[in-house]
This record gives sequence, C-alpha cells and structure tokens, in this order.
Amino acid sequence: MDTELLERHARVLERLAAACRAAGRMPDEVRLIAISKLHPAKAIRALAGGGQVDFGENYLQEAMQKREQLADLPPTAIRWHMTGHIQSRKAPQVAGAFSLIHSLDSRKLADALERRLVALETRQPVLLEVNVGAEAQKSGVMVNDLPSLAEYIQEHCPHLELRGLMCLPPVFDAGEAARPYFALLRQLRDALQGRLGLPLPELSMGMSGDFEAAVAEGASMVRIGTDIFGPRPVRG
Ligand SMILES: *Cc1c(COP(=O)(O)O)cnc(C)c1O
Repeated sequence: MDTELLERHARVLERLAAACRAAGRMPDEVRLIAISKLHPAKAIRALAGGGQVDFGENYLQEAMQKREQLADLPPTAIRWHMTGHIQSRKAPQVAGAFSLIHSLDSRKLADALERRLVALETRQPVLLEVNVGAEAQKSGVMVNDLPSLAEYIQEHCPHLELRGLMCLPPVFDAGEAARPYFALLRQLRDALQGRLGLPLPELSMGMSGDFEAAVAEGASMVRIGTDIFGPRPVRG
C-alpha cells in the first residue's frame, strides 16, 4: 500500500514538473501541498518518509489528532497547512498552530485570530480565500470585498502576516475550464499588491483535476489530495 502511495506521489511530482516546464517556470517555484483530510496518519507518515513536507488538513479536530499520532517525527519533517473553513470560535486553537492558514475570509475570523496571536506573542502567515465564482454556499471573501478585508487586516491585525490569496474554483475537476478563475485570482493578487504596497508571493490554487492550468496561471502552491492518496473515505 505504501509503495503504491509513494508511486502516485512521484507521478504527481512528475506532472507538476512537466506543468512547470510547459509554463516556462522552474519546478521549485511551485510547492506541492498534499491534502490529507480524511486519510489516516499512517499515510502521512509514509509520504513524509518519502520526502513530502507540506500537508494540508481541512478539519481542526482531525488535524490535531493526526499531529498527536505523528508527534514522534522530527519537528521539521512536516509543515502543516490549514486549508478548510474555520469557524471564528475555533480561532484560538488554530492561531499559531499551522505554518500557513489558507482560508482566512472574514473580519470576524481575522479579529479572533489576532486576539489569540497577541496573547501568544507570535505572528501567523495567512492567505485570503477568495470566492472567485461568487457562489452563495461557498466560503471565501467576495471579489468586491477583498480590498477592504485586506486593508482591514493590514491596519488592525499586525500579528497576521498576509502572504497571498487562495481559491477553489466553482468548476470541479474541470482542467482548462478552471483557468479563467486562476487568472482572476492572479489579477486580484497583482492589484492588491499595488494597493497595499506589500509583496504577496503566494497563490494557492489548483487541485487534482486542474493543477496544470493553475501552474500556467502562476500558482505558487497546488493542493492535491485524490491524485496522491486515492479516493477519500466518506466523512464520518
Ligand atoms: C479537498 C481539497 C483539496 C484537494 O482536492 P483533490 O481534488 O482531492 O485534489 C484541495 N483544496 C481544498 C481546500 C480541499 O478542501
């Protein structure tokens, strides 16, 4: 089972390298985040043994459980990413616990994280999740509200370190059809950089079914679950 997992991981890395070449980019410009939600800690352990460093989790409790199960690994073996929606009341547990939060999308959450970070006396790198398809049921800040949220954070949340943007396009597993949404996220990032006078190097975009298009549009991180781990177990 581990051999198969490591082979799938190697194939994804090859496809990522090929996508970078096709886009005229260097392979080390795009980081692979292995999205391990709903997969067991032992799969993470096997991949970490194979050299994968960045792992993304969507559910706080599940993430914390797995981290306990993997606590014997050296602290530098894994960089944990929070990629799922965060309720403000969970902010105290999330703040300072992840190397990067991809899913900051409201003032309320920013304030709650900031309060905890003040107490911890630490800074937290974050991305703003943008609802690029303006879907009512999805999380993420609406495109029109992005500048004011970013300015609010810059002004009121000195412990949040704004690093870039993240999105989940409205089309799923759709390859090139997702590309206009990735282009939009890049344009929003470029505009926001100018507006804030702040470098925003990270664009977290692209999943199993569309990461080649995301790389072509400037992704700095792709978030891949299924193509590495296989189909996800249903959430219990
Ligand atoms: C589940 C998930 C992914 C990975 O999706 P796959 O299609 O399995 O590659 C990426 N990003 C987020 C935010 C997710 O929730």
